[in-house]
Order: sequence, then structure tokens, then C-alpha cells
Amino acid sequence: RPRVLSGIQPTADSFHLGNYLGALRQWVALQDTHDAFYFIADLHAITVEQDPEALRRRTRVAAAQLFAIGLDPERSTLFVQSQVPEHAELQWVLSCITGFGEAGRMTQFKDKSAKQGTSGTSVGLFTYPVLQAADILLYQPDQVPVGEDQRQHLELTRTLAQRFNHRFGETFVTPEAYILKAAAKITDLQEPTAKMSKSSSSPQGIVDLLDEPGPLRKKIMRAVTDTGTEVKADEENKPGVTNLLRIHSALSGTSIEDLERHFEGQGYGALKKELAQILLDTFEPIRERTGKLLADEAQLDRMLAVGADRAREVARETMETVRGRVGFLGRA
Ligand code: ATP
Ligand code: MG
Repeated sequence: RPRVLSGIQPTADSFHLGNYLGALRQWVALQDTHDAFYFIADLHAITVEQDPEALRRRTRVAAAQLFAIGLDPERSTLFVQSQVPEHAELQWVLSCITGFGEAGRMTQFKDKSAKQGTSGTSVGLFTYPVLQAADILLYQPDQVPVGEDQRQHLELTRTLAQRFNHRFGETFVTPEAYILKAAAKITDLQEPTAKMSKSSSSPQGIVDLLDEPGPLRKKIMRAVTDTGTEVKADEENKPGVTNLLRIHSALSGTSIEDLERHFEGQGYGALKKELAQILLDTFEPIRERTGKLLADEAQLDRMLAVGADRAREVARETMETVRGRVGFLGRA
């Protein structure tokens, strides 16, 4: 079975619908076909300022949500990045074979640092893609599930793997991109031409996996729709309705065309009502399981420790090879 590796940052109080449909649901499916390693990227999270207690809480919430949506600790390895110190160790080595200009060309850094200004931008944010390369290469995965926004970083990872291999001898697998199937881009409910995102969406524009039923229903009923009355997918003229149809289709498994037929002669209200129900049916069991997992922190932390131990076994082996190749003196 090919190995995959993917990570997600614990930087919100809940994952949202975009995360779920664009990434996390795929993570669950990949367990059937792949040897899967998943991690909660707390090292990446601190590239911007975090409140320590909030970070710890969000790390547990993220873990609980991932188990709750169906990540199975028997079949895949879920761990917290900072509990495997080899990530930071390999990052240092890789940063020493990364060009300053090469790192400076990363568009995500350019975007984020432009927003924050030089004084608000940490060196960690600059070296973020090198840490990401280390995250990946430690586990020698064959494939890395990536969205469009991460393509450039994976390209850097591949470059660094090849450069290291060339300079020090064959050490790393050069991973391929695994393009997520039907990775629907979910847009903001209030601003349907913009991506649903934890950092830019308003509370009314974003659906969280942990939203209570009442507010969730309200958000869907109040979603911005478009002029006209016909339930029809039309990215250009009906971005709001198109987004709702896409979410419905992704969750119900019904094709957009079938949905258009199903809602023929009915207005936007009917679509919203049905969609709200589907979302509740999907998210309520997840919310309940998340609550149960969070109620026993000691048990949750133990589940994560098991994941960290398993991850560390692989990471340690890679790091041992790296140390020898680079010329570090082995400990007697
Ligand atoms: P930020 O605003 O901080 O970038 P985000 O809401 O975009 O946060 P990320 O943590 O960047 O969330 O993304 C985690 C994963 O979820 C990524 O794989 C990303 O591609 C996916 N994802 C995020 N938002 C959406 C969306 N609106 N539609 C589909 N996939 C999404
Ligand atoms: Mg993002």
C-alpha cells in the first residue's frame, strides 16, 4: 500500500465545512487504500502568534474532530507534530540546503508577509515551507494529498529531496502530488465568490463542524443567494446557489444535474431547507463523538501518544540515516 502523509493546523476552535469537504473527508477515505500518516501541525501554527492555552485546547479539539469524522487509530497514524522532535531537526538540515532566494519565491510567504508587514513577519513564517518539506520527507511517503495552494511547497519538497540525494547519497523518496478527487472549493455563505476560510470568513459565512443545530440551520437559511428563482448551477451568475448545490451534492452524493431536476419548480428556500437537514444529519453525530472524546482528555492524549510513538519510529530511522549522511558524529 502506498504511503500518504498530510497535516492540518490547529488554528481554529473547529474545522469548517471547507476543510471537511476539501481535505478531511478524503483523509478518511484514503485509509482504505493507503498507509496513512496524518498530523496536527502545531509547529506550523506558531509561525503566527498563538495564545498557549488556546493552542493546547485547539490541538485537542482538532484531534477529537479527526477521530470523530472517522480516522481510525488502528488503521492510520494520527499524531501531534511537536511530539515528534525529528520534524524540527530535519527542518534545520534542509534549511541549510535551501537557497535564501528560493525560499523567498514562495508565493504563500509573499502573500502572508505582505499582509503582516516585515515587523509582524517571523523567520518561522519564512522557513515554513522548509518545515513542510521536513514533515513530508521524514516519512518517505509516495504521495502527498495537496490542494492547489500547496503545489509550490510540494515542488520545493521534491527539489530538496533530490538535492539532498544528489549531494549526500540516496536518502529520500521524492513524493508525488496526490490530487484530491472532487476537492470541491466551498465558498463563503455571505460572500459566495470568496473561499470559505477561517481567517477571512465572517461567522455567518462559515459553517463549523461544531456548530449547534439552531445556528447552523439559520446560517444556511440566510445564505446569500442570487437574483432569480431557479435552482440552477451557474458559477458566473449564481455563485450563491451554485455553492449550495455543490455542498448538497458533495454530502448527498447526488449529481448537480439530478439536484437541478429535483428542485425544478421549487425556489431557493426548498434547496436551503433540504441542505440544512443534510448538514445536520452529517455533523450532529460528529459533534456528539467530538464531545465524548473531549470529555476524557487523558484518554485522548493517550491515543495521540500512540500515534506519536508510531510516527517517531519512522521519523527516527530517517533521521539516523540523515545524520550519518551529513557527517554528524554518531553517539558512542
Ligand atoms: P486560512 O484562512 O488560515 O488559510 P483555511 O480556512 O483556508 O484557513 P486551512 O487550514 O488553510 O483552512 O486548510 C486546511 C485544508 O482545508 C486544506 O487542505 C485546504 O485546501 C482545505 N480547505 C480550506 N478551505 C477550503 C474551502 N473553502 N474549500 C475546500 N477546501 C478547503
Ligand atoms: Mg488556507
